[in-house]
Amino acid sequence: MQLPFAESYKIKMVEPLRRSTREEREIWMKEARYNLFNLSSDKVFIDLLTDSGTGAMSDRQWSAMMIGDESYAGASSYFRLKNAISDLLGFEYFLPTHQGRAAENVLFSVLVKEGDFVPGNSHFDTTKGHIEFRRAKAVDCTINEAFDVTLYHPFKGNVDLNKLEECLNAHPREKIPFIILTVTCNTSGGQPVSMKNMREVKELGNKYGIPVVFDAARFAENAYFIKTREEGYKDKTIREIVKEMFSYADCMTMSAKKDAIVNMGGFIGMRSQEIFRQASVFNIMFEGYLTYGGMSGRDMNALAEGLYEGTEFDYLQTRIGQVAYLGERLKSFGIQSQEPFGGHAIFVDAVHFLPKVPRAEYVAQTLGVELFIEAGVRAVEIGTLLADRDPITRMDRYPELEFLRLAIPRRVYTNNHMDYTAVALANVFERRDKITRGFRILHEAPIMRHFTVELERA
Ligand SMILES: *Cc1c(COP(=O)(O)O)cnc(C)c1O
Repeated sequence: MQLPFAESYKIKMVEPLRRSTREEREIWMKEARYNLFNLSSDKVFIDLLTDSGTGAMSDRQWSAMMIGDESYAGASSYFRLKNAISDLLGFEYFLPTHQGRAAENVLFSVLVKEGDFVPGNSHFDTTKGHIEFRRAKAVDCTINEAFDVTLYHPFKGNVDLNKLEECLNAHPREKIPFIILTVTCNTSGGQPVSMKNMREVKELGNKYGIPVVFDAARFAENAYFIKTREEGYKDKTIREIVKEMFSYADCMTMSAKKDAIVNMGGFIGMRSQEIFRQASVFNIMFEGYLTYGGMSGRDMNALAEGLYEGTEFDYLQTRIGQVAYLGERLKSFGIQSQEPFGGHAIFVDAVHFLPKVPRAEYVAQTLGVELFIEAGVRAVEIGTLLADRDPITRMDRYPELEFLRLAIPRRVYTNNHMDYTAVALANVFERRDKITRGFRILHEAPIMRHFTVELERA
């Protein structure tokens, strides 16, 4: 017999989980104003809110923490991280930051000006926030195939080169500070970008004299998809693929809470000494001195180790295999998700799931609330609440897709937890005809409202 798949690690430390009753969860949800971010974590049985900073570190990472160097300047932990970044990603210059959005804040303080345009593939919400905060505009150039959830396309994170060139032609060069490439593309469903597309985007950037910045939070998962789906990469190692990917980037921002498997951390990678010098000023102002940014020495050590572990094939196969396992279970119940399944999460098509709830009443949020009440599983809305209002008209922006995202923390849950989640969602699916109303907004923030929004039943 062919041996079945098994995880490439074993468990050394556990954390107890508390079960709750439906009655408790109904009260908690109401008290939380139907915002899942407002729930304290002890009320959650399985937490699929995010894969960001929620991973389990390895024994090697924990031991690296013990030898962290907490010197203010020139700590050995800084050099350990610098060497890992140069070795694995190929960037000569780097700045540590406390997380990914801090890297965006520092780098965009140098590059983005009022009235600029930043084309890319479905910009992540904090990325878009940092662009719009500077009164510039994010231009989405993702391929149309990304918005058809049932259509098979191996690289739904790809940039449509015609859309991109149209944008590059429509504005003067000095109004386009860079092209941003998100790998993998979170907003469209954890979907990868092909190596070919990266190369072509870089070529187009070169033609117009515009640099390319990678938003690289899930670069290793992207590399796994290139290895397993793109012609010519089957026999290359993940690290070889990663090296080639970043050869098409002039700068990168990293949320290390994703593919570097740490609970906090980030950095900026750069090739230009001039950009490094300018960004250094903002790093010192916003984050901390150049050799620690927002991180302690032990954090930098764990991050350096995590970059190596996160780019091992066996680990990636275990992780991405678990995400696909959940996706297949849901599919067997007739629940539609973005396909092919993404790297870090399953994106359930909420409009298909709850056809009777009006778009104006936040369909994916409604599904998220139902799932929590059903079983204590916490997921997150990637839909109209997240898409926010148009900065000019202040009207709700309806995204092409309304998703409930089930994000899987790295090395944390077993496939039994995936089965539990799948059945919970199937139970909601069975009673979907009775779910006809969603929510109204009671209170919202002017930007990135989904974190703090307060809702009531419509
Ligand atoms: C998480 C993430 C960010 C922001 O990083 P934080 O560490 O959460 O600040 C930016 N871009 C992408 C693609 C992300 O997934």
